[in-house]
Amino acid sequence: MLDSYLRQKEEQWESLCRRCGGCCGSFDDPCKHLKKDKTGFCFCEIYSNRLGVRETVAGEKFKCVNIREIINTSWKNDWLCVYKNHFAKL
Ligand code: SF4
Ligand code: SF4
Repeated sequence: MLDSYLRQKEEQWESLCRRCGGCCGSFDDPCKHLKKDKTGFCFCEIYSNRLGVRETVAGEKFKCVNIREIINTSWKNDWLCVYKNHFAKL
């Protein structure tokens, strides 16, 4: 019961993402696992297994973390991020 409630809340939270890919470097040096669908929206090809050390197209190593952990950092075009905007209003 609690599990399904929390899962539903997590899905609602994740559905807010506008899939610009900015937090994965789409506007500068993207993660190698960041892909675009036919309509131009970004998605992670390893989403359920994404967390951990990853590499950008240019070969830079970084750690993929939950968006909550980088919400107070900045990246190119981060003004597009719904989560950053959400927390900026609180
Ligand atoms: S592994 Fe992480 S940084 Fe790379 S595309 Fe997936 S979510 Fe983005
Ligand atoms: S920057 Fe924000 S809105 Fe864009 S893909 Fe990342 S989490 Fe989603």
